[in-house]
Amino acid sequence: MADHSITELRPYKKPVPLNVRVIRKYTLQWNPKDPKKRYYLLKDGHGNAIEARVETRSKKIDAQVSLYRCYKIDGYVVNPPMSFGKVVSQDTTIVIGDRTVFQHIPELPVPIPKQHFEFALHGALEDRVKKNPVLTGIALDRTSLNVFRIIYSLSDYLCRIESNSAVMKRKDKNLLKMMVTDLSEHTIEITLWEEMAYTYVNVLSPGKVIAVASLKVTRLTVAFVMCHITEKIQLESTPATTIDLELAIEGYAEEIKRLQMLPKRASCQYGYQTERDIRDNITTIADILSGEPVLVNNRRFACIARIKEIQGYRTWYSRKCPHCNDSVRPEEDDMICKHCGTVESTKYAYCVNAVLFDGTATLPVVFFDDAMRQLLGTDCETMVVREGFSDTKQVPGPMIELIGKEKLYSFIYRFNEDSTIQQTLEVQPLTSAPIAVPVTAKETSLPDSVKPTGPAAAPATPAAKNQKKHVRDLEGTDGPSTKKAKDKDE
Ligand SMILES: [Zn+2]
Repeated sequence: MADHSITELRPYKKPVPLNVRVIRKYTLQWNPKDPKKRYYLLKDGHGNAIEARVETRSKKIDAQVSLYRCYKIDGYVVNPPMSFGKVVSQDTTIVIGDRTVFQHIPELPVPIPKQHFEFALHGALEDRVKKNPVLTGIALDRTSLNVFRIIYSLSDYLCRIESNSAVMKRKDKNLLKMMVTDLSEHTIEITLWEEMAYTYVNVLSPGKVIAVASLKVTRLTVAFVMCHITEKIQLESTPATTIDLELAIEGYAEEIKRLQMLPKRASCQYGYQTERDIRDNITTIADILSGEPVLVNNRRFACIARIKEIQGYRTWYSRKCPHCNDSVRPEEDDMICKHCGTVESTKYAYCVNAVLFDGTATLPVVFFDDAMRQLLGTDCETMVVREGFSDTKQVPGPMIELIGKEKLYSFIYRFNEDSTIQQTLEVQPLTSAPIAVPVTAKETSLPDSVKPTGPAAAPATPAAKNQKKHVRDLEGTDGPSTKKAKDKDE
């Protein structure tokens, strides 16, 4: 039997039996006319892919068709492409009905790849977004009714991650943002929405090369500080989006290598959030602890809480090598870095283990250098060297004064699975912004009506005051570029 190609198909013409692999299964909730319908992306042995819409009355076929398996299919209908969210460039689609036959077949002699990409470079995105604010690509198709209709397509993007955020909440939606560079060396922001954010949060990290399929392009108005308004384009996930990591991307070894070799970008930092972001994420410690690990891990939260205890039996600062930032230790009269040898000077960094309490539950946390510096208004070196608090296990007075004061703490929650003690949840108040908030009431859950501009309680420190002002300055911006570089203290 001849191995037919997807390119032989013509709308409204007889189908041919096709040997295909099912390389994607998805729904398109965002298509208002088609909320729950199932779609497959099918790929043949000639390198072509086609979208198939499932219109069966029973769920039998969908249940029987497995992702990545190969089938010989026949008895389907060939249609023009969909008018919304075209996933591949093919100008036909397949409609699967009750009479369609999916016959499972073994792998072909030359296996069909499990992926299909039609990568776009940054320049192509800009050109397309002008024509349509929502989706990439636009083409006119003359239908049988002799009416022109618009066909949109989604973009695949091969890129290197420069930085990525944790899962955040904006309005009622969960999202994750990352800054990526493509082969044309342009950077662009990709937003992963809802379950897509949770699916990938633990595998994304700066430096990784990824292939992201079926993204839409949107234009975003960005207000920078100083009222400078600009527009930028960004990419967003759709329900058809998939992400493949570099080791799993077939056939692009050369491109992947080039991406890996590109000079590192000055990456934006997602540790910072606007005050609005933080307020959208306010919750209680009890709610976080009772959440499904997969839903709360790596996600940013904020709580109105007090420091209940600072664990003085653990060291509250460390000294680091100025060359490699690893910790140093005394060796007779010298300070030794295990990589760099004797170091002439060392950096001091806060690393304070504490317990937060918000009336609902307690939470062990670690204040890294940035966070503690902002709370105290004093950097670690000043505290140790000038003010003479040099004993690593003697908590300084100014730090003890922080205990019991109610503040809004924002942090990324990290669930430590390796820990044998359930309570040792590793929580890092990473944000640069422990900000003083109006002390209204000791409610366990704070109403949305808490106004950032309300009568503020006196900030605990000058730094907190400055921080609050800084946050307000940035309110309404969405720009990761506004975030100052931040220590990544371990
Ligand atoms: Zn070193």
